[in-house]
Amino acid sequence: MNKLPVALRVLAVPAVLAVLAAPAAPVVAQGSLAENRRGVPDTSVFRPLIAAAPNGYRTASGMPGPLYWQQRADYVIKASLEPATQTITGSETIRYANNSPDTLRFVWIQLDMNLGSRKTRFTPLDHFFFPEDSAFHIGATIERVAALRPAARGKTAAPTLAWWLNSTMMRVDLDRPLPPKGSVTLAIDWHYQVPMATGRTGRQAYPQGWLYQIAQWYPRMAVYDDVRGWNTDQYQGPSEFYLEYGDFDVTLTLPAQYTVAGTGVLENAAQVLPATIRRRLAAAAHADTIVHIITAGELGGAALLPPGAGATRTWHFTAPRVRDFAWGAAPNFIWDATSWDGILMQALYPPDVTDVWKTAADMNRHAVMIHSRWLHYPWPTAISVEGPVGGMEYPMITFDNAETPKELYYTMAHEQGHEWFPMMVGSDERLYPWMDEGFNTFIDWFSFRDRYPTDTVRLRTLEFGSLPAYLEFLSQYTGPETPIMETQDRSPNGLMSGWNAYGKPAVALHFLREQVVDSNAFDAAFREYVRRWIYRHPQPEDFFRTMDDVLGEDLSWFWRSWFYRTDHLDQAVDSVVQTDTAGHVLSRVFLSSRREMVAPVEIRVTRADGSVETTKLPVETWLTGPQAVWMLVNPPAARPVKVEIDPRGVYPDVDRSNNTWTAKGP
Ligand SMILES: [Zn+2]
Repeated sequence: MNKLPVALRVLAVPAVLAVLAAPAAPVVAQGSLAENRRGVPDTSVFRPLIAAAPNGYRTASGMPGPLYWQQRADYVIKASLEPATQTITGSETIRYANNSPDTLRFVWIQLDMNLGSRKTRFTPLDHFFFPEDSAFHIGATIERVAALRPAARGKTAAPTLAWWLNSTMMRVDLDRPLPPKGSVTLAIDWHYQVPMATGRTGRQAYPQGWLYQIAQWYPRMAVYDDVRGWNTDQYQGPSEFYLEYGDFDVTLTLPAQYTVAGTGVLENAAQVLPATIRRRLAAAAHADTIVHIITAGELGGAALLPPGAGATRTWHFTAPRVRDFAWGAAPNFIWDATSWDGILMQALYPPDVTDVWKTAADMNRHAVMIHSRWLHYPWPTAISVEGPVGGMEYPMITFDNAETPKELYYTMAHEQGHEWFPMMVGSDERLYPWMDEGFNTFIDWFSFRDRYPTDTVRLRTLEFGSLPAYLEFLSQYTGPETPIMETQDRSPNGLMSGWNAYGKPAVALHFLREQVVDSNAFDAAFREYVRRWIYRHPQPEDFFRTMDDVLGEDLSWFWRSWFYRTDHLDQAVDSVVQTDTAGHVLSRVFLSSRREMVAPVEIRVTRADGSVETTKLPVETWLTGPQAVWMLVNPPAARPVKVEIDPRGVYPDVDRSNNTWTAKGP
């Protein structure tokens, strides 16, 4: 145990001392608590975070309230893919349950396939996500929209419903009002053409046929919530999704030589797989090493098909309580599987990437196991499918692509992390990418460190929320800085918006966890957020309030500076004044917080006798303003000769040139 100083106090700076210390003026004035009177604006960095008022739906402590509701959408989809025309044709029913207190006369449905369509107002915009492709710009063709309801003599009536297209959103007018606690079953028939590789879905040519990674491929219910009503933000590509939870029942018909993997459990293995393959899958379900389900040598052979297979195979999947359904298909998939704690871990990839992918099923296993520290993975399987999509996530299935096994692990662990955010915790990615990408970047650090514990170089990148990497980025970045809370679609600089979604929130959470609060307490709070909001729709305030609630802290100052603003931290030792009295040296350390952000202060004092001691001053040091004095009393032989702020370099201090005071020589 280190020797404590004789006296240690943090004082507010009286006016005279403040003058003596001559601190630099802060960029933004920080009001003191004394000004916080009725009718006087509270400008302190510690003022309560201005957020939506708590109500019966969302409580002040960050929990879903007693009146919390959300809509439910259960899907039954029957679709077929015809590689000759690249066309997916589908019929779906959506049973939509209105749990809101409102009577709905229309509903909104998302048609992401229209992003590449000439029917949308986005046509003039050039997008990575749907690049111009003359043969594939027609978007979704809606053949029919109807309401299904029981009619006389056991029949079903199916009145046709009017619909109106607004680019990637479709409003369907209901023929009867949908009251609270009521439900409606919609029937929609549609088809569209699968585009070439885009950022999220696409296809790739192989001699044996096309490989597909299929997502955002069917009409999906928009979210109606207590905060914004219908969430009709257009799909423009960069910003992701906001979806309702429900059960999925999906049947996919493809040419017989195709192997298909999709969200959920394969219900009809006996119809689509021969007994040998089924036996291997059963073995993999209890194995902790990789079991080969289909090997490269078996590809193209008749033994991969069940006896009596025709020209097509129809694959039937069910998935309970998910927000989406995606799938992969190819005639040349090698298929590996293993398991962890009853969860079937699968990897499907073409033979040409075997060198990189041969341990992919185990990578899945490892990532899901480590991420489960935040809440146990709730679904029966976790699948990774190789293809042209660089990395994208959907419930129980991810699309991955990488050049080396290590980068594949990084990609897979990241995409699997999305099973927690936003697949389990269903936030609005379109408005708040940091609530999925940022949280995910934060948790990726734990899985990668466990898999590659000696690769500290890779961990010190912004992709893992590394603070030094973030400061380096800031020092070189010349564009406009926007806050984390800004949506990606609205950020003027892609680089900044990218790191606002990924790196910066992870830097913030690691900093909070490792330097500001107790790490174990942080983990408990973060887990509680997942537990409270699993299968639900949290807003940013619900996260901030839950963290405050479980940590027992009002972290308004932290959330505001890191998430709502573009504040920076600059802590400084302005001066040290030493006075010798009665056999003691009194050292007054004049500290200042020169920029908009506040934080605790870590100070290392080196004394004349060679002893070194590190002290952490709480963030409350700055409660009364941007200057503070820390006083030390030492014997003359132990006179402080060096005072240093943030000696370990773990604070986001943008100017370290003012962090150290050194005594002048005798
Ligand atoms: Zn991501």
